[in-house]
Amino acid sequence: MINKKHFLTEDLVSNQKPKWCIGCGNYSILKQVQEILPIIGVSKENIVFISGIGCSSRFPYYMNTFGFHGIHGRAPAIATGVKLANSKLNIWIITGDGDSLAIGGNHLIHLLRRNINLQLLLINNEIYGLTKGQHSPTTKIGKKNKIDKPFNTLTLVLGAGGSFVARSIDRDTEHLKKMLIRCYKHIGTSFLEIYQNCNIFNDGVFNHFTDKKTKYDNTIFLEHDKPLIFGKNYNKGILLDGLEPKIVSLEETTYSIQDLWIHNEKDRTKANILARFSDKNDFPYPFGVLFNEIIPCYDQLFEEKYKSNNENYTFDGFIL
Ligand code: SF4
Repeated sequence: MINKKHFLTEDLVSNQKPKWCIGCGNYSILKQVQEILPIIGVSKENIVFISGIGCSSRFPYYMNTFGFHGIHGRAPAIATGVKLANSKLNIWIITGDGDSLAIGGNHLIHLLRRNINLQLLLINNEIYGLTKGQHSPTTKIGKKNKIDKPFNTLTLVLGAGGSFVARSIDRDTEHLKKMLIRCYKHIGTSFLEIYQNCNIFNDGVFNHFTDKKTKYDNTIFLEHDKPLIFGKNYNKGILLDGLEPKIVSLEETTYSIQDLWIHNEKDRTKANILARFSDKNDFPYPFGVLFNEIIPCYDQLFEEKYKSNNENYTFDGFIL
């Protein structure tokens, strides 16, 4: 007899052919999501994908699950409503840098503040793809004549009270799968930034994180309770001088592994320092889980206070 929960990756492939450009990084992200869902043990009937607007927000069409292609920037609001109506649902928000950090910025920060129990994948290609290449809130200075400073996505999320903050990249499929599973396991809003190559309007913007010649110096993969080591042959480390990070060579005798910063996913202050590496010259970008803490979820509090007591439901002052 087939267990109701049991389904395969191919069962998650919808009858819609993706309309993404050939070579787009979204294909890899879609594939990894379809690969991890059958192994995490959630019932297919309980999975919902909710998106806003943008190339990545076409995601729900390509998943053979429940889904909702929402309006620009409003996926967090829709997902909040769905979760409060039925807390058993396993909700994945799919959004992009334009969708969530421009028009949807306000919705994003309040989702994080409330800590609704769901997963949010922010697919960041540092450009508006769907509307043909305008700069987005994460586009680097100089690209497309951009003169204003881009958002540091992870410091924004940490500042808004994010309870789980992580980063991965489309081309590192094993790491991406690992991060998706970590997101699922976290109770609260799991925020995963995924760097995605838009090969039409911003091609190669993340190549230095994946090219064999440059990736070892430009990336650091975090593991809880492990020292911060990077570089080819793991020849460099990072230590903290007070709250100031410093790159040191492990090839000389001055420093050893014992001197290095040990990553602690529970430390929000240090997670902020990690997230700021991207604002510093010569520092590697952190990948993995920067921060992870269990704090109350709005949906759980809502259930306890209103549903179980049969009181009128109120949501930020409104009677529902
Ligand atoms: Fe992907 Fe860019 Fe094409 Fe959009 S425009 S589908 S992000 S390659």
